[in-house]
Amino acid sequence: MTVYLNGKFLPLEEAFVPVLDRGFIFGDGVYEVIPVYSRRAFRLHEHLQRLQASLDGIRLDNPHTMAEWEELIQTLIKNNSAEDQYLYLHLTRGVAKRDHAFPQPPVKPTVFMMSSPLSQPAAKLLASGVSATTATDNRWLRCDIKAISLLPNVLLRQLAVDAGCAETILIREGSGSGDSFMTEGAASNIFVVKNGTLLAPPKNNLMLPGITYDVVLEIAKANHIPYQVRKILKSEIFDADEILLTSSTKEVLPVTRVDGKAVGSGKPGAMFTRLHMLYQEFKREVMRKS
Ligand code: PMP
Repeated sequence: MTVYLNGKFLPLEEAFVPVLDRGFIFGDGVYEVIPVYSRRAFRLHEHLQRLQASLDGIRLDNPHTMAEWEELIQTLIKNNSAEDQYLYLHLTRGVAKRDHAFPQPPVKPTVFMMSSPLSQPAAKLLASGVSATTATDNRWLRCDIKAISLLPNVLLRQLAVDAGCAETILIREGSGSGDSFMTEGAASNIFVVKNGTLLAPPKNNLMLPGITYDVVLEIAKANHIPYQVRKILKSEIFDADEILLTSSTKEVLPVTRVDGKAVGSGKPGAMFTRLHMLYQEFKREVMRKS
């Protein structure tokens, strides 16, 4: 596997970062995950824009122009053998004496990228759906930043694994139980379907603005699928006809059980089937044009 580190392409085994890197010491950095289909990066511009927003969120200057990123990414894709890949981009505030405050003068940020083979979600998962558990969203108030400090997400995702589930659906608890609402998954965005309408939580500081989330809403709009972007109450999760999970590596997956109870019929529903098909068409069309 060929990775990229601070200006060089090299084998993974030869890529090292000093222990005083602020990513290692403080989790002081941001990242991106970009899917690649048939060697073409999907929604690259949108991913690079979100990277810029994350960098702005942590007040770290972008060390590369969009054109430089594109070139680095093309080279990384070329240097790895899989047709479908997912790219991991990681930037930290660099190496400096341990001190919470930003290094003065600023040091060079650390830039790391790697590629892994991307496989489509298994047919079995699409046919049966996945299970999810729910948990209190106890993360910070800047979940819109794709920060590398993922300890809360790690602990929340492990709750799903411990319960034999694929994902944890996160609930911000309100002052009364009726005010609690859904934000997203530990590593995905979540949609609810009720009476034929696709419901999406609004993008704000409490969730990551998913690139796949945007694609799904774009597809819904283009195909006249009824949808609403609005707060989704906790109670609506347990009353949903369908629940969908989206992410760059999982695309669109049906969630058919939550906290051990069937969602709707307990089988992937009509909205999932339609969106999944449209998503595959959308991908093919984007790839054909790029
Ligand atoms: N929310 C969180 C917390 C995530 O980690 C991810 C996946 N990285 C997403 C949402 C989905 O975002 P995307 O569709 O851009 O992969």
